[in-house]
Amino acid sequence: MSFSSEVKKELLSIKPTAEHCILAQTIAREHFGKNKLTRAGKFRVGESLEKNCCKRAYIRGAFIESGSLNAPEKAYHLEFINPNREYVDILVYAIEFFDIRAKVTERKGHWVVYFKEGEHVVDLLNIMGAHNSLLNFENARIVKNMRNNVNRIVNCETANLSKTVTASIKQINDIKTIARITGLGYLSTQLKEVALIRLKYEEATLKEIGVMLSPPVGKSGVNHRLRKISGIAENLRGGKV
Ligand SMILES: [Zn+2]
Repeated sequence: MSFSSEVKKELLSIKPTAEHCILAQTIAREHFGKNKLTRAGKFRVGESLEKNCCKRAYIRGAFIESGSLNAPEKAYHLEFINPNREYVDILVYAIEFFDIRAKVTERKGHWVVYFKEGEHVVDLLNIMGAHNSLLNFENARIVKNMRNNVNRIVNCETANLSKTVTASIKQINDIKTIARITGLGYLSTQLKEVALIRLKYEEATLKEIGVMLSPPVGKSGVNHRLRKISGIAENLRGGKV
């Protein structure tokens, strides 16, 4: 069953008891449905939708007949559709009363009232009384956000990690080159200390190396020393020393 059908099924299970709400919902279903108008003649927007319960009932009736809502895993999109602008305006009036900004557009001779914000969808489900659908929607929304966040973090960490590892491999190569050609004693005390820590902790970040130095040095200080080491290795490889 589509998410829309689930919502409609739940909305249909809500039976308004007050006469005014029954009327408002019936009229909405006539305005937004394919059935002939029978009770719409009695309808005066001001009077018939005066009560908030009736505004909710009208929105509910409109959704049952013409509403659709994407499954929450997809892009958020809830809409009502109607060829009659007058009825669309009544619906927008009822919805905007609840502080939800409705967007209206024309599509193939029909008016479409639509919402693309997750928050608006949640508010509308709440207003219509579709509380189970609302819970399902919110749960899916949380999972979706969490999955997006996890992916973002994983991507970010993978990128950082591989950058650290690539840099580390090069630094270790450089240090080994120096050790082979001249021995690490060739380096100044400061550079030698960094070199030894780099060799020992292959996966350490610059920041972590900095903390292990005495006295500790910041990330950029460590970077500076490692670049010096690389420079020396380059020169040794080129036989310039
Ligand atoms: Zn009512």
